[in-house]
Amino acid sequence: MDRNHLLKELHNQQPSWDLIVIGGGASGLGTALDAASRGYRTLLLEQGDFAQATSSRSTKLVHGGVRYLRQLAISLVRRSLKERFILLQNAPHLVHALPFIIPTSNWLSRCYYLAGIKFYDLLARRLGFKPSHLISKKELLQCLPTIKVDQFSGGICYFDGQFDDARMAINLAQTIVEQGGVPINYMQVQGLLKTKDKVIGVIAIDLEKGITHEIQGKVVINASGVFIDSIRCMDKSNAETSIVVSQGSHIVLERTFFPGNSAMIIPETVDGRVIFAIPWYNRVLVGTTETTTETISLTPKPKEAEITYLLEYIGKYLTKQPKKSDILSQFSGLRALMKPKEGGVNTALLSRDYVISVSPSQLISVIGGKWTVYRKMGEETVDVALKVAQLPFCASQTSHLKIHGWSQTHSKDSEWHYYGSDLALVEQQATSQEQLQKLHPDLPCREVDVLWAIRHEMARTVEDVLSRRTRCLPLGARASIEVAPKVAAIMAKDLCFSKEWECQQVKAFERLAKDYLGSNPIPSTEHSEALYL
Ligand SMILES: Cc1cc2nc3c(=O)[nH]c(=O)nc-3n(C[C@H](O)[C@H](O)[C@H](O)COP(=O)(O)OP(=O)(O)OC[C@H]3O[C@@H](n4cnc5c(N)ncnc54)[C@H](O)[C@@H]3O)c2cc1C
Repeated sequence: MDRNHLLKELHNQQPSWDLIVIGGGASGLGTALDAASRGYRTLLLEQGDFAQATSSRSTKLVHGGVRYLRQLAISLVRRSLKERFILLQNAPHLVHALPFIIPTSNWLSRCYYLAGIKFYDLLARRLGFKPSHLISKKELLQCLPTIKVDQFSGGICYFDGQFDDARMAINLAQTIVEQGGVPINYMQVQGLLKTKDKVIGVIAIDLEKGITHEIQGKVVINASGVFIDSIRCMDKSNAETSIVVSQGSHIVLERTFFPGNSAMIIPETVDGRVIFAIPWYNRVLVGTTETTTETISLTPKPKEAEITYLLEYIGKYLTKQPKKSDILSQFSGLRALMKPKEGGVNTALLSRDYVISVSPSQLISVIGGKWTVYRKMGEETVDVALKVAQLPFCASQTSHLKIHGWSQTHSKDSEWHYYGSDLALVEQQATSQEQLQKLHPDLPCREVDVLWAIRHEMARTVEDVLSRRTRCLPLGARASIEVAPKVAAIMAKDLCFSKEWECQQVKAFERLAKDYLGSNPIPSTEHSEALYL
């Protein structure tokens, strides 16, 4: 996957693509992969990096959504459970089953939650992971060693999936290339080409080279997440708002606050939310909040109140109360939820299902959904697109398509197991032992990872490497700021970029990473300043 090579493909495939997909998050990547693997000439354009927006900021669950049962969203849960199984089959290097514990304090709540979870098992049918079961107080303490056990009489254990969202996005982009598609990052769609009121393509600018392209396609798909209405406005200037946006934030803590290999779910907070504490790599991820927002950004920032809320809530359950200074990283994501026709907006109650709409100009928009169902969304969107573009029908191939990196034999012991079948190739690049050493003791990032990211995974910036090719930034913001100059230097050398680029990259990364640090003091940047001035 090489950006310059893909840009050449963009020119070679003119005059017209079969499908042009706007947006390189879960929805766009799923759609482009479905189309490319059916044999259609497919182009995907992403304004930033793949998964830079919501799709790298999720809770990392591949799940049916236990809490949607309360809203009686049965078909959404059933469909999600089926997709959970398919994802585990097609990307076993990135998805695994994880035990989730619901602590309960009395028999009434035990019966209530057990009934719900057994129904969840039933909906999964033969595609379920392991069956759920009751656990005693002693087992509760074994699974969640730092829980305030005196408050509980036992709990319920059920199984759901966990994955790495940004790594999945990168592997999907690689699979699209393997299937003959062309996904390009840092290519922003700024307008739509139209003839006789029908959309026939896009105007896109290559943000790296500053070159504008007019690109024709038989059908254009708007999979731009919370930016959906900005594209709809390019189609019809007075298009109505179609979504409500809600922000969800997470904090990341040391595993000492939450050791063990099980996740905990607080199934109903006093304000009707669900909070998870989930082991993720060698940290614990706590989230999420849900707050309506009007601010749409590629890099949303957690609000003080959200962080305080998460710290206080999780502190009620753990023997060691985390403080703001214990936060290693914090981040927010934005959900695009379908706007209700009428009534007030409690976003927690809005459907997580998706809608595929076709405008009179034949622009297709895909709205809502979850990472878990990205494949099904992609399949259904392509089915609609084929009808709109009157292309000959070929059936979807993705339910059995292995995602790049597929491996069932890779060792889970390696910190870099997420590469799957690529792991050996990543490490074979090393020309010295030093390149296999960590660049920072607290982060899973080596020189070979940086080189692999730029040579084979289309990383273009320090942020791409530290945030989405490796997961350093969400795992530790302070340490990531400290390691950024080394990463920039390795990138500049390999890509033959200037010292000026290197300096600008470090500064841009520091600016971004400050939001992940929250109110914690920023590490001294004297080192990097001295290096570049
Ligand atoms: C806090 C939170 C937690 C979540 N947790 C889970 C979970 O645990 N499990 C789960 O299954 N789901 C989860 N979800 C839902 C899931 O993350 C989203 O449904 C999914 O990531 C949305 O993907 P998307 O492609 O629609 O949007 P995005 O990921 O936002 O992608 C849209 C892309 O379009 C690009 N774009 C926009 N405008 C343009 C343009 N003009 N030109 C080119 N590109 C453009 C953007 O840059 C962006 O990358 C969560 C969501 C949130 C907010």
